[in-house]
Amino acid sequence: MNQDGSYFSSTIPLNTAKATTPGVPEPNVPAAKPTPLKRVVSGAALKELLAGGAGYQAKTPTREDTEFRAYSHSEIARDAATIKNSVVMHLTATFLRTPASIDSTHAYLASAFSVRDRLLQRWNLTNEFHDRIGAKRVYYMSLEFLVGRTFDNALLALQLRDEYAGVLGDVGFRLEDVIDEERDAALGNGGLGRLAACYVDSLACMNYPGWGYGLRYRYGMFQQQIINGYQVEAPDCWLDTPNPWEFPRPDVTYPVKFYGRLEHVPGSAHRYRWVSDVVYDAMAFDMPVPGYGTTNVGNIRLWSCKTNGLFDLNKFNAGDYAGATGGQVAAQILTDVLYPNDNTNEGKELRLRQEYLFCSATLQDIVARFKRTGRPLSELPDMAAIQLNDTHPTLGIPELMRILLDDEGLEWDEAWDITTRTFAFTNHTVLPEAMEKWPVPMMDRILPRHMGIIYDINLFFLQRVEKQFPDDRGLLRDISIIEESSPQQVRMAFLACVGSHRVNGVAAIHSDIIKQSIFKDFVRVMGEDKFVNKTNGVAPRRWMNECNPAMSELITEVVGDRSWINDLSKVRALEARVDDEAFRRRWWAAKQANKRRLADYILATTGIRVSPDALFDVQAKRIHEYKRQLMNILSVIYRYHRLKEMAPAERARELPRVVVFAGKAAAGYWVAKQVIKLINAVAEVVNADDEIGDVLKVVFVPDYSVTAAEHIVPASDISQHISTAGTEASGTSNMKFVLNGGIILGTVDGANIEIGEEVGEEQIFFFGCLAHEVADFRHYLRFHQPKPDPALQTAFDMIQRGTFGDAHIFQPLIDSILRGGDVYLLSVDFPSYIEAHKAVEEAYRHRDDWVTKSILSVARMAKFSSDRAIQEYAEEIWNIEPVPVVE
Ligand SMILES: *Cc1c(COP(=O)(O)O)cnc(C)c1O
Repeated sequence: MNQDGSYFSSTIPLNTAKATTPGVPEPNVPAAKPTPLKRVVSGAALKELLAGGAGYQAKTPTREDTEFRAYSHSEIARDAATIKNSVVMHLTATFLRTPASIDSTHAYLASAFSVRDRLLQRWNLTNEFHDRIGAKRVYYMSLEFLVGRTFDNALLALQLRDEYAGVLGDVGFRLEDVIDEERDAALGNGGLGRLAACYVDSLACMNYPGWGYGLRYRYGMFQQQIINGYQVEAPDCWLDTPNPWEFPRPDVTYPVKFYGRLEHVPGSAHRYRWVSDVVYDAMAFDMPVPGYGTTNVGNIRLWSCKTNGLFDLNKFNAGDYAGATGGQVAAQILTDVLYPNDNTNEGKELRLRQEYLFCSATLQDIVARFKRTGRPLSELPDMAAIQLNDTHPTLGIPELMRILLDDEGLEWDEAWDITTRTFAFTNHTVLPEAMEKWPVPMMDRILPRHMGIIYDINLFFLQRVEKQFPDDRGLLRDISIIEESSPQQVRMAFLACVGSHRVNGVAAIHSDIIKQSIFKDFVRVMGEDKFVNKTNGVAPRRWMNECNPAMSELITEVVGDRSWINDLSKVRALEARVDDEAFRRRWWAAKQANKRRLADYILATTGIRVSPDALFDVQAKRIHEYKRQLMNILSVIYRYHRLKEMAPAERARELPRVVVFAGKAAAGYWVAKQVIKLINAVAEVVNADDEIGDVLKVVFVPDYSVTAAEHIVPASDISQHISTAGTEASGTSNMKFVLNGGIILGTVDGANIEIGEEVGEEQIFFFGCLAHEVADFRHYLRFHQPKPDPALQTAFDMIQRGTFGDAHIFQPLIDSILRGGDVYLLSVDFPSYIEAHKAVEEAYRHRDDWVTKSILSVARMAKFSSDRAIQEYAEEIWNIEPVPVVE
């Protein structure tokens, strides 16, 4: 609590806030207006509750309360008439439609709102129940949640899909078309954001008490258009239409301070008053997360920066209209955009402010919820576990320290003990360009209190190291949270490591690598037990049951029921059917049906016609040098060259192949964008070549997203996961593809290794150098030009001859290999990559063996369910238990 006794209000009345720090953009907050009444009331009300200690139970229930409870706890009926009523009610009363003005957009919205009614009811039940029994919760803090669509997912979870299909059919709509009206919630870049979405799905399905916390970006991941072969970014205005899947919480709002100065509180060692001159309000929006086959509904709480009260009426009245709204603009921009970078750190000031807004609101909310239990703060770690999804939410650590020291008046040691027992940290990368660091001067200016706390954390930590390893100056320099560069930098991964009780990597190889590289010194100082592995997983609900109905039906038939959807170990039963001829034919047919569906999607999005009888060879993921889409397209060029050299009869005997690419490049990542251009340039030439026809087609599917992935993943025969060994922490799309009966062509990297262990070496095509060999190759290539093997040279020659248009625009890509040190070792791996392609082709020609591989793969994928991952986190890091909701 603040010193004036109010919990919410800052030391300065909010609406008199004004920037005074030199060089800080003027936020144009209106001067001297009275504090809004609502804030005083809510602060006082909370204070009363806190003083009462017993929280909400203090009131004795009245008759109305009992009726209220009886009503709110009785499930809405599931019959067609009730569903139809509620859809029609929303059509007319929520969306003002008449029978003549219903279109599929409003059919979707009304259906979605009627589903949401059910979810919100269960949401209430779930959270009330968890409060009542005093369950410990996990809070998964992530700046990204790549959720995708919710409607179909919710229908499946509630087991109401057929009912809604029927009701929509009655009013003249196909469910599939209605589902297609929904826009993706794309609040993430790629794997890291999708992982967070899979994890909250698993929490809900497995009845674990827990929430995701994130930011509600007004513009999510940009939409990718391909114009003249180049990527063009367009804003993702996903909130332009009503969003049924969020619930605004104007009553859940916290002030977040920036800038200003510190005043030491006399008589205390570590207590400061932060006199800030800029305060923004973060307001909560809740996204219910349907749990499949359970009453439990999860939640993602997203913060949005509020602009109410920042309109300057005085400036408006004086005719300064831009000035009047300046404060609103400055506030809103904080949660306007997702930074569309993947595995890079940009060091932008706005990003740091975003991160802090997120962390401050989240920690205030967690502490407020905890305090309603009336327990002493020392018990916070018994009630809350906080997982940091990469370093982006690391400021949560100094923020909790600030709350405990300054607001709650705890001593340092107790505050630090509580903090480190609460937090755990997931590392997602070892790429140097992704390591999050912030210049000390920037941090000091924006978050002076946190900079002070970080200095103290570092001081106490280094004192401990010094005691343990006296006179090792090098160690102190290397392990310090503050990097002694000019200017100094805060190393966020080190802060996260020091402030957490567990640090985990996301695949076995990755967890080993971080112990030997970035956290090597920390292993020496803190011991090995702090560093654990939690191999990633994917949600079987979305990545099989929802995206692959044909194969799901087969699995259900073999298992005997749908229990595999929440217990993937049951898919092992497929192994018993691997020799059943009739079953194998249906398996193949399911894959072919998925390929036809993708062929339709490709035709609709690109105008390119592909044959579903060809081998579908897919690489869909963010475009990044380490993922080596360049190596893939170079091998396609080489293949094209070989086909052109052949006599027609020989060419006709070749295995037809469709090479599918999809993925976005960060807007400022020039090399990655040139790779997209090269792929499209090759596609244009190859697809138009009559001599080639269906033997080779190259497709770049634009605007990769969760929904696009749901079309692409079930249709692959092989998918490529070909990162330079040691660079892909885990990967998760490798898991999705294999779960859907596709085979991996990949390097010995990330989770490919564990997938190979599970499915067996017959079911995976490995190639390329190993992680421990990379350093030597890189060292050699720094000083020697690579000598490309003939195949690679052939591809270079073709580009340089202008086969794919203006050669000079692609020369920098060639130079990155020949002159740039070939950091990702394309020249090293290319020969074995070509060999692996040959092996794939040979195997695919033996259809019988191929079907066996496909069935066995799916049967052996249980480990890669996100349910397994979440159970490991719950048992080994969070210490939480599943509690199915009962009344
Ligand atoms: C799963 C997924 C990813 C992650 O793909 P990787 O190949 O593991 O990098 C990225 N984007 C989307 C839309 C996904 O669904």
